[in-house]
Amino acid sequence: MLTSSVEFGTLASMNYSRAFAVCGLAFSCVLSCSAGFYGDPPDARHPWAIHDMNRPQPKVVVPGTFSTQEQPGKPPADAIVLFDGTDLSHWVSAKEGAPPAKWKVEDGHMEVVPGSGDIQTKDQFADCQLHVEWAAPTEVKGSGQGRGNSGIFLMGICEIQVLDVYDNPTYADGGAGSVYGVNPPMVNAIKPPGQYQVYDIVFRKPVWKDGTMLDPGHVTVFINGILVQEATPLEGPTGHMKRTTHGPFPDKGPIKLQDHGNPMRFRNIWYRPLSPRPIEGGTDGGFLTEEATKAKRQSIAADIRADAAKGDSKDTLRIALRLMESLAYELDPATVKKVEDWAGEYDTALKAMNPDQIKGKKDEIRSIHGAVRYTTQFGLLPASLPLKADLDRIVKEQKWDK
Ligand code: MG
Repeated sequence: MLTSSVEFGTLASMNYSRAFAVCGLAFSCVLSCSAGFYGDPPDARHPWAIHDMNRPQPKVVVPGTFSTQEQPGKPPADAIVLFDGTDLSHWVSAKEGAPPAKWKVEDGHMEVVPGSGDIQTKDQFADCQLHVEWAAPTEVKGSGQGRGNSGIFLMGICEIQVLDVYDNPTYADGGAGSVYGVNPPMVNAIKPPGQYQVYDIVFRKPVWKDGTMLDPGHVTVFINGILVQEATPLEGPTGHMKRTTHGPFPDKGPIKLQDHGNPMRFRNIWYRPLSPRPIEGGTDGGFLTEEATKAKRQSIAADIRADAAKGDSKDTLRIALRLMESLAYELDPATVKKVEDWAGEYDTALKAMNPDQIKGKKDEIRSIHGAVRYTTQFGLLPASLPLKADLDRIVKEQKWDK
């Protein structure tokens, strides 16, 4: 591995060329700081460094299109479509035994058949981004809660109210976009009856562990692009007239749509599942638990060490830089020893170089200097490392730090 003599013909270009290609970093930075030796390192609650190039890239999702009144938009590429205007194959009646859903489907929408009962998805899920469009009848009948009423029940138990509140006052915590009986919408953003209203909902269920609530769960709602609920804490399943109390939710549940006796229309219904939060064992995002952070850091370090072992085993510089990078995630004593051995050999070779040879190795020496400076600054390698002093001296003499 690193016990072979240092090969001065090798340029450790991989790290900074990768940084340049992906980040578009300024060329001066590309030369002086590789991707692994840049921002503040991981800590007890963050498994990643700041600006960490080892951190996985976000998955690419092809966006959908926005709806018009005449035409529903196209869902994003990774959405799970629950209703595309053609049939109720993803839905059943919410009645016992889940008989077929009896709502009407025509002209690209589904419509409540009053008295047929609520319907719900066959899919069972929890945390999600949910998109629903609905329209109240053009012909206005009734008032208050009796006019254009339906509801979207998250996990089948938490209602986000669907109601024609266009010029139709009702109790605020029962308006369109309310968390029913819990929290009114911030504003009334509803269009006139007959027009489609667009709901975009972000739902996080409560998290309980050993009888203790770690997170009450919350819901964010946009109506027609306007924020009406901002991470509103849940208070348990919603209910009518009675205040509910908190308790653990099931692991999963359906989306339920309410038959409240009005011929409400729905179209373009889809969702995207969300990844778990750190508090429920998710391993990304910031501020993980110390336990999860440690495990994640060990896993990242192991991946980097495995990557270092790939490729040309004579490429000692690439291997050394990768191993130094791994130290930011896990201060593995065997790896520290390998790096120190390599640093000793490199320092010996450096001392034997004449001024022209040093000038010819400008990029290589600067990349190693950046790595050594970073690892010693953050206590990953001892500040007394002889290679550090020699690199500091050379960089200063050559004015490469300017
Ligand atoms: Mg309702």
